[in-house]
Amino acid sequence: MIPSSSGRPGRDAPGWRERAACEGEDLDTFFPVGSALWQAQRATSICAGCPVTEECLSYALSTGQDHGIWGGLTSEERRDLRRQWKRGA
Ligand code: SF4
Repeated sequence: MIPSSSGRPGRDAPGWRERAACEGEDLDTFFPVGSALWQAQRATSICAGCPVTEECLSYALSTGQDHGIWGGLTSEERRDLRRQWKRGA
């Protein structure tokens, strides 16, 4: 599911995608459209058992991924996290 990192050298730890729990899953599950809550819930449940959640979230935050579920967090949750960091929380 995770898009290739080609074209983004040096921005994420090598090899983490090969261990992703979402490998082979439908891309739409991780990029729910509108209010497809069930898709987001399915995605986050897969992320909950993923061994590379930290690497995935780090990649998403460092590359400004604004859409989809990354590292078990929705785009709104990642925005909240960035706001908390900016406030120094
Ligand atoms: S944390 Fe979720 S989106 Fe990221 S690699 Fe793991 S299963 Fe895929």
